[in-house]
Amino acid sequence: MHTMTEGAPRFMSKGTALLRQQNEKRTLALLRAGKISSRQEIAAALGLSKNTISLIVDKFIKEGVIKEVGSDEQGSVGRPRIQLSLQTEAYKSIGILIQHSYIQYVVTDYCSAVLDQGSIVTDANDPDRCIGTLIRLCGELIGRHPEVLGIGVAVPALVDPIEGVVHFSSHLSWRNVRLKDRMDARLPVATKVLNLVKAAALAPSSGMPAEHAANSFYLRIDEGVGGAHIIDSSIYNGASWTAGEVGHLCVEPNGPLCTCGQRGCLEAMVSLPALAKQLRELYPEVRAEGDFDAYWTEDAAGLSSADELMRQTGRYVGIALAPVIALLNPGYIVVDSPLDKLDAFKQSVLSTVESRALKYPTEQTKILFIKSRYASSIGAAFAVILDFEKE
Ligand SMILES: [Zn+2]
Repeated sequence: MHTMTEGAPRFMSKGTALLRQQNEKRTLALLRAGKISSRQEIAAALGLSKNTISLIVDKFIKEGVIKEVGSDEQGSVGRPRIQLSLQTEAYKSIGILIQHSYIQYVVTDYCSAVLDQGSIVTDANDPDRCIGTLIRLCGELIGRHPEVLGIGVAVPALVDPIEGVVHFSSHLSWRNVRLKDRMDARLPVATKVLNLVKAAALAPSSGMPAEHAANSFYLRIDEGVGGAHIIDSSIYNGASWTAGEVGHLCVEPNGPLCTCGQRGCLEAMVSLPALAKQLRELYPEVRAEGDFDAYWTEDAAGLSSADELMRQTGRYVGIALAPVIALLNPGYIVVDSPLDKLDAFKQSVLSTVESRALKYPTEQTKILFIKSRYASSIGAAFAVILDFEKE
């Protein structure tokens, strides 16, 4: 009995501390969203007393995380509300994208603004060498930015985001690499590992309107093709982490072999390497990769007769999106690709979806075409901040 009475206050204070920490994180999340900026508004939004919020805000002011920036007394009734501003560089995050020939990195502030960025040419096919490079790079970045909360790493692979294990990658020669464990053992902050498309879907730069994060689908065309289903602002992973893999829906039964072993997957038809190959067949005289890169931009000249290829590409994307609409009924679909300026592509996606998907949900689904740079690395950095707010 004696030990129980001694233990009880400790248990209570632990619970209270946890509750307070949760309220602190919820306060930061509200200020990060930027729509709320006074103690009164935070208290109302969280359903807490103004005293509780004042204690939290005062602690953050002392730590340099929040600053008072004046009051809104003009025209308002009652006591003036002191406006608060988040010091966005008080917390930072590292985001990394691993591709087969380079590593791209960003350091962002708490609101996903990029403070530092760059890339390193490397052969990422060798996991040991790649992880060595990552540990050196992150060590240097943390030295320059001691406010870093954690590291998000986006990988073109089937990833277990809980354990941080890269199970399989057809773009890198990686099998069952315990990336998180190996980085955590050597670095002062924790690493989170994500699939690169799912990381990109999370990025605030992905163009997904925040109010539709309730149920949306994100499709990315790059070196590979992938997708992510977003429900209630988080990624739906599925039972074995492959939910949303739209790149391996068959769109051409007799099409070329895909890296997954099937024929005619969307990825085999419309990934950028697949499109470059088809453009080279159309234009054997154009050899340099750079010439094809220029084609994806609005002002590319000389390759306009490739419009038929773009219409066919749009048809394949539309064929894949029709079952997405039928199964998931998303409010928004974001198609993130360098083809976002090409009308032949966009019109073909829309008309194919219209002709193949259920009429009612299709009318309610908005399809947006964007091209977001650095989306995967910024999204990986943002995933660290979201985890920090949930801790
Ligand atoms: Zn496939």
